[in-house]
Amino acid sequence: MRPLVLCDFDGTIITRDSCVELSSLWARGIDWEALEEEWQMGTRSTAEVARRILDSVETPLSVILDHLQTIPLRSGFPEFVAHCASAKIPLLVVSDGYEVIIRRILAAGRFDLPLYANILYQDGPRLAADFPHASPRCTRCGCCKKTILERLRHNPGPHPRPVILIGDGRSDTCAAALADTVFACGRLPQLCQEAGISYTGFSDFFDLIRHPAFSKTRSA
Ligand SMILES: [Zn+2]
Repeated sequence: MRPLVLCDFDGTIITRDSCVELSSLWARGIDWEALEEEWQMGTRSTAEVARRILDSVETPLSVILDHLQTIPLRSGFPEFVAHCASAKIPLLVVSDGYEVIIRRILAAGRFDLPLYANILYQDGPRLAADFPHASPRCTRCGCCKKTILERLRHNPGPHPRPVILIGDGRSDTCAAALADTVFACGRLPQLCQEAGISYTGFSDFFDLIRHPAFSKTRSA
């Protein structure tokens, strides 16, 4: 059975983190780095950190999007998308970041991929967020990748399909324990080691294209 691929966005598909970049450039009057650290430690949820940061931003969303769409893609991503398409391996983007930012960056590269992420929108003079993929069983994630993985693994058909998770950090840890295969960069290798989760390291998407897990000759 062909695997389903869930791929993180910030720090994975793109080389930087658009949420950190939003905070560092436009958060005003708050210690956003302390909030980011508390999120990394798991002592504050995505929704709580997002609310605090977005409340402090006075820059219009359109200006923010124009800047963030210039963050470069990780090397080999266009080739990886083409490879998965020709191998008929479903590739989905799962992110604890914001859909509107991700869509803008993917559209700039003419990528049209299924996407699960949080909602960011302009609400009068301020920015606001919604979390349609939050899970009542997870107090941490805005968009819980574990819940998405569990749902998609059994859709369609009675047999669970193998799931490959590609990611770089904290937001991937919920799903990493359930994925059949984990490809990790950034902080995720260390987080997997601490949690006893096996993983394969990678530095760019060409590494993944060459890996047997993405072979075009896997049986359908
Ligand atoms: Zn979660």
